[in-house]
Amino acid sequence: MDTSSPRRAVAAESSERPETPDWAALDTAAVLARLNTDPATGLSPAEVETRRARYGRNALPEPRRRTALMRFLAQFNNVLIYVLLVAAAVTLLLQHWIDAGVILAVVVGNAIIGFIQEGKAEQALDAIRTMLAPSCTVVRDGERLTMPAEDLVPGDIVHLEGGDRVPADLRIVGGREPRMQEAVLTGESVATAKAPAPVAPGASLGDRTSMAFSGTYVTAGTARGVVVATGAATEIGRISDLVSGVRTLTSPLLRTIDRFGVRLTIAILAIAVAMFLFGWLVRDYAFVDIFMAVVGMAVAAIPEGLPAVLTITLALGAQVMARRNAIARRLPAIETLGSVSVICTDKTGTLTKNEMMVAHVATADHDIAVTGAGYDHAGTFYVDGVESHAKTLPILEALARAGVLASDAGVHPDGDGWRVHGDPMEGALVVLARKAGIDVAALRRAEPRVDGIPFTSERRYMASLHDHHDGDSEVLVKGAPDRLLDLCHAERTATGDRPLDRDRWTARIEAIAAEGQRVLAVALRRLDGHRTHLTEADAERDLVLLGLVGLQDPPRPEAVAAIAECQRAGIRVKMITGDHAVTARAIARELGLVAVDRALTGAELDAMSPDALRRAVADVDVFARTSPENKLRLVEALQADGAVIAMTGDGVNDSPALKRADIGVAMGCKGSEAAKEASDLVLADDNFATIAAAVREGRRVYDNLIKTIQFMLPTNGGEALVLIASVLMGFSMPITPVQILWVNLVTAVTLALTLAFEPGEQTIMARPPRPMKEPILPGRLVWRIAFVSVLFLIGVLAIYRIARGLGATIPEARTLATNTLVVFEIAYLFNVRRFGRAGPGRGVPPITLPVGAAVATVLGLQVAFTYLPGLDLLFDTQPLSAAAWGATALAGVAVFGIVEVEKRIETRILGPRRRPGETAASGPPDPSR
Ligand code: ADP
Ligand code: MG
Repeated sequence: MDTSSPRRAVAAESSERPETPDWAALDTAAVLARLNTDPATGLSPAEVETRRARYGRNALPEPRRRTALMRFLAQFNNVLIYVLLVAAAVTLLLQHWIDAGVILAVVVGNAIIGFIQEGKAEQALDAIRTMLAPSCTVVRDGERLTMPAEDLVPGDIVHLEGGDRVPADLRIVGGREPRMQEAVLTGESVATAKAPAPVAPGASLGDRTSMAFSGTYVTAGTARGVVVATGAATEIGRISDLVSGVRTLTSPLLRTIDRFGVRLTIAILAIAVAMFLFGWLVRDYAFVDIFMAVVGMAVAAIPEGLPAVLTITLALGAQVMARRNAIARRLPAIETLGSVSVICTDKTGTLTKNEMMVAHVATADHDIAVTGAGYDHAGTFYVDGVESHAKTLPILEALARAGVLASDAGVHPDGDGWRVHGDPMEGALVVLARKAGIDVAALRRAEPRVDGIPFTSERRYMASLHDHHDGDSEVLVKGAPDRLLDLCHAERTATGDRPLDRDRWTARIEAIAAEGQRVLAVALRRLDGHRTHLTEADAERDLVLLGLVGLQDPPRPEAVAAIAECQRAGIRVKMITGDHAVTARAIARELGLVAVDRALTGAELDAMSPDALRRAVADVDVFARTSPENKLRLVEALQADGAVIAMTGDGVNDSPALKRADIGVAMGCKGSEAAKEASDLVLADDNFATIAAAVREGRRVYDNLIKTIQFMLPTNGGEALVLIASVLMGFSMPITPVQILWVNLVTAVTLALTLAFEPGEQTIMARPPRPMKEPILPGRLVWRIAFVSVLFLIGVLAIYRIARGLGATIPEARTLATNTLVVFEIAYLFNVRRFGRAGPGRGVPPITLPVGAAVATVLGLQVAFTYLPGLDLLFDTQPLSAAAWGATALAGVAVFGIVEVEKRIETRILGPRRRPGETAASGPPDPSR
């Protein structure tokens, strides 16, 4: 039990400064004054340093860990281990010191390996957690910056928008109709409206509408706030136990295995009782002899290392994935990833580079080509192939100005190149303005934004309110062109405004989109008098269109390769975008995405019945002009057809679709914190290729889990069967119980653990997805356990009998038989390493470092077992001749060959071993459909 929480709460309380003001009740001017900060410019770097020294980092104290001792003891908390401990205790009572020692060595060795590996796994998961550290937008020294939330200090000015996670306790000082989801603190699931107005002193947490609390989410609107408390001093810091984000080392398969372990233990105990009674009553064994045989049998049969090895395999997989930028927020996701059959992915930034550049500007008068490279500020304008100066193109200048003022992004020098802070598309507009000779910083200072309407994927435009020189106000709007055309009544030419020629603009939009460019329209409107507040009604009518902007966003080359790989792996890739259908299709063609060159728009989806939708989503791969609700419907329609879906998302409104999908994938860079919170997987690089790599890794991990099971159960079965058969048939034991215990000790974890490190087979992405629900003990595996156990038994018996026939003493023959059993397990490990036929050049190298090391260790231990003085007394062994070792090696090769033949025949009968339990008939949906 965790007794640390009350103590920590007390600590948080006492560190709180006694004079903490009631921030919610003060008016904003007083708050800003007390914190000595300015909402427009924020703190200076020097001031930040001083405050950091005083208040520390904005981080919650590390949750207290289980102590090393507790973690070690937890290794014994397993039914399989209980049985072993009881066996050891009884063996001790019988004063069979060696047997007891070997059993205890197995238990302790297993615990040590589990302990070390689990420690490593937890470290790996910790590293993953820090990769998920949230960031925030802050104003410092007059600049708007994105930085880790940990760096905040009291007095910092923070900007929030929909989807953001509040990074510290803030007093709201501005913004636009922000709403916050505060369930973590108040339990209230309905979002609360926030505003700068002070509240009554002493108001309860839920009523402090002038505050935004750390750990809550912005569901709508925007807000500006000043940090009043950080780290442990925040409201959430006081109850930080609730938010330590516990991650457990388990998954559906592991839980199934745990349940299976209990049933297996019961079965083994039943067999043990039967074997004991039979040996004692029918075969007349001495009590102690039959008892030790039964203990040896039970200990050998119990796959005590299985849970540890499976957990390690999963955790290692999480680590490998994280190194490749795919951060699994929940371990079960790794398993599910292996069964993904459809990936629904965003276009912008995931399939494309999201390095936008304006390549085309269309005004009422001209079509203007823009040259340049990325965010570099050098570039030229061409009108009909003739280089033209921006000064001669007044509408272009007006459009560039409006584009900048209706954007938030900044483009700053970064080393040799440029770095965009904010939306890359807005960054492209900033660069366009620079190319047109506009001093962006000066423009933004001269014409500050008075109010604004932020971009959302439902609204599909963004508007900004500015004072006009003559005392009037001006709204500048940029947004999706089809949306803006509806709001415009006129178009601007060099000689004045004229009525909008809608058809001409529609044709021009299509022409730009057909080049694969994302199209944006820019418009404006004069409002009479001085306004301080911008309503949607103001922004949504009587606009004057300045023109269109065509933005290039080249596909990521690695996405093209990844899509091809997914298609080979029987995974459908569907592109979902807010862009124009024509743009979407052009990009899809470049990506090699479409077999059917068709796109459905969000509006078309809305109009479909669920049935029609199900039929449509089966064929169409491109969805354009979609809203977040469309995403949810798509997931549901695809799932109704039995697909296992990975769905990407970035906005707060994507959360329902992310949660509903089998694997919700959030964007690590451009994604909102709310989307990350709703997801199973976070892409640190926002790259589609990373999803494909994660699926591959998920398949590899699952393969290795299955291989581990395929190795452990049959080898344990073989060990147990040697003793069972001896008692049943009444022949002298080819291997004594204590020798079986030794074999179990030597091989239990060593050999199987290597499977956690196995590389994927080459066919891993050339076969269809694994069905989600498959039995843990499919017929194939039961057969394999029986076949291998019997094969081991026959082999061991044969070599024992032959040795005896050639005149070996009983101890010699038993030493030989024991070595042979161990070599059989080594040989079988090589069978298991590949599902299909063994052979070179199939992705799994003939030997890997872990396999080599494990085999060498096991063989070394067998040499010690055979020759080492001391061990020969303990285990009653005898030195062997070279010929005997030769026979052992030959027997090992024979077992390997026989199992390979068995695999081949089995494949003939049951179809390729895609996955255990899967029949050839339940093949994939045809990916080329
Ligand atoms: P995607 O799914 O490709 O990221 P979005 O939903 O982000 O698409 O954008 C859809 C359309 O909305 C874009 O084609 C563009 O015309 C417009 N748009 C995108 N971002 C902005 C923005 N920040 N301001 C104004 N309009 C935008
Ligand atoms: Mg977008």
